[in-house]
Amino acid sequence: PAPALNVVAVECVAGQGARRLPRVPGLPDDVFEHDGQITKREVRAVTLAALAPEPGELLWDIGAGSGSVGIEWLRAHPACRAVGVEPRPDRAARAARNAAALGVPHLDLVIGSAPDVLSGLPRPDAVFVGGGATAPGLLPACWTALAPGGRLVVNAVTLESESLVTRWHGEVGGTLTRIAVDRAGALGGFTAWQPQRAITQWRVAK
Ligand code: SAH
Repeated sequence: PAPALNVVAVECVAGQGARRLPRVPGLPDDVFEHDGQITKREVRAVTLAALAPEPGELLWDIGAGSGSVGIEWLRAHPACRAVGVEPRPDRAARAARNAAALGVPHLDLVIGSAPDVLSGLPRPDAVFVGGGATAPGLLPACWTALAPGGRLVVNAVTLESESLVTRWHGEVGGTLTRIAVDRAGALGGFTAWQPQRAITQWRVAK
């Protein structure tokens, strides 16, 4: 029931020493329960800026993982709506827990693979592809479904998905950006740069 979820949210914040969560995207990775498969905060902030949520708009978060992108979309405005698509039930359950803990329990989750499960979903104003980009028919299905004026953002990590978005960029246009983030971390008694896996981001408006 909703009151219990509210209590979870309060306890979660209090448990982190009443840590103040910013209103704008780029929440710290560790406010999300995750298994390592999460869009890292720096990349997530850029991704949300590209998705550009407006009140009332619907996001498809494909490859929802921990739910972090859908959750930050929903935090942009109380009227925003989001559907996460995630084939792994354990990850979908984790995304639901994160959404409840971060005050947006209305994140919808569909357990299944894209593009198979997309046909029944309402038309999105923005689509984020964080996983499954190379699944046959996925990008065409997203592009077709996207509302006029909608935004598509694909974060490619593998050479296969990178070559796919490069091809789409050539045909459809938009912007290709490579984002590489290094974080300082412990190395023995010293501190050294730890490179995160670089991503190629393709963003395009319809
Ligand atoms: N953006 C997520 C992380 C995504 S990791 C976050 O911030 O937490 C990529 C995810 O894509 C994985 O959870 C994987 O299970 C999922 N995935 C892989 N193939 C998929 C497909 N065809 N449709 C939907 N999700 C898929």
